[in-house]
Amino acid sequence: MLRAHKIALDPNNKQKTHLSKCAGASRFAYNWALAEWNAMHEARKEDPSLKRPGQGLLRRKLNATKRERFPWMLEVTKCAPQEAIIDLGRAFSNFFEGLANHPTFKKKGINDSFRISSGFFTIEGKTLAIPHIGSLRMREELRYQGARQVSVTISRRADRWHASILCELPDTAAEASLGPPPGERKTVGIDAGVSAYVASDGTAYKTPRAYRKAERKLARAQKSESRKKKGSKNRKKQGRKVARQHARVYYSRNDFTHKMTTDAVAGADVIVIEDLNVKGMLGNRRLSKSIADASFGEFRIQLAYKAEAAGKTLVIADRHYPSSKLCSACGAKAKLLTLGMREWECEGCGARHDRDLNAATNLKRYAESSPASACGEFNASAMPAKAGPGQAASVKQEPNSKPTDV
Ligand SMILES: [Zn+2]
Repeated sequence: MLRAHKIALDPNNKQKTHLSKCAGASRFAYNWALAEWNAMHEARKEDPSLKRPGQGLLRRKLNATKRERFPWMLEVTKCAPQEAIIDLGRAFSNFFEGLANHPTFKKKGINDSFRISSGFFTIEGKTLAIPHIGSLRMREELRYQGARQVSVTISRRADRWHASILCELPDTAAEASLGPPPGERKTVGIDAGVSAYVASDGTAYKTPRAYRKAERKLARAQKSESRKKKGSKNRKKQGRKVARQHARVYYSRNDFTHKMTTDAVAGADVIVIEDLNVKGMLGNRRLSKSIADASFGEFRIQLAYKAEAAGKTLVIADRHYPSSKLCSACGAKAKLLTLGMREWECEGCGARHDRDLNAATNLKRYAESSPASACGEFNASAMPAKAGPGQAASVKQEPNSKPTDV
């Protein structure tokens, strides 16, 4: 099982410059390979006997010519350009499988990062040593001591640098079978709402609504940036300010989902959630900001890997299961239930329901009545593969893919 630990770095100014250079080489190689790929693809339309583009071929091509054409590339770890082209190959296979859009060119300053493969970095205590830089200070020690280190991805968000160390851990699948017998398992349903996540045992986790709260401030900052002269120092400075505000929103959301999912997995043996079509919902402009704030996609990704690591079961209810509309007391289906109705009364039995708690209770029932979950068939690793940002979930779970941050 692959697991990543993301640790903040404290590079000095010289190291910061070098890290930016590595990210630049990575981005340059990605864009170079993408242009080559596109050109090869076009040429093959004229002459089908020409070679098919591929990441292996393009990596060899870059290696053969970089000394002459891009000598500056030799100043950084050779992993930076190589791993970027491997990523491009993966982006194309995702595209061919219909999981992602056609790869696009990367822009400077957006997701600046590079990856170093195993054997080209070492970690000792709180130091990470990489070629050409030497020792970088890490804020904490690696959580997975003794595990095989697969790769390290170094990335920048606003003005902070992080290292995400991907490790291969021993499989916990065997331990999972030693959990409590099916009849004694604690099952909890969780209803994911825009303003709160509500569990069937009554626990409610209020979403931080980070974006909603920061929205005005962000808009003001962005407007101020756009008014400043292009290319000016002031504009750059303001740009950094905007990036920092975005980062704050991200950290706040991230902190919330991590705490909540850890808590949920610790408190139950079987966790049941809805199969939310997040991508479709983000298309709803009126709701999209609130939904992004509630981080439904991240919620599912984190629940999936945390449940797997803890040997617990995550059940994803069928997308058509009407968890909100069923009465958890008598099973009757409500005819009219709009999004705005936070409470409702069942026409069948007269029970009054809190909308979210009722949905969570139904989700719990769903798993308890489904024989599949009793025998653990719906394991966290058996997540459906192609659903909204859940897409990312399955992609992230696979080996050789981008690591998940923990
Ligand atoms: Zn009822």
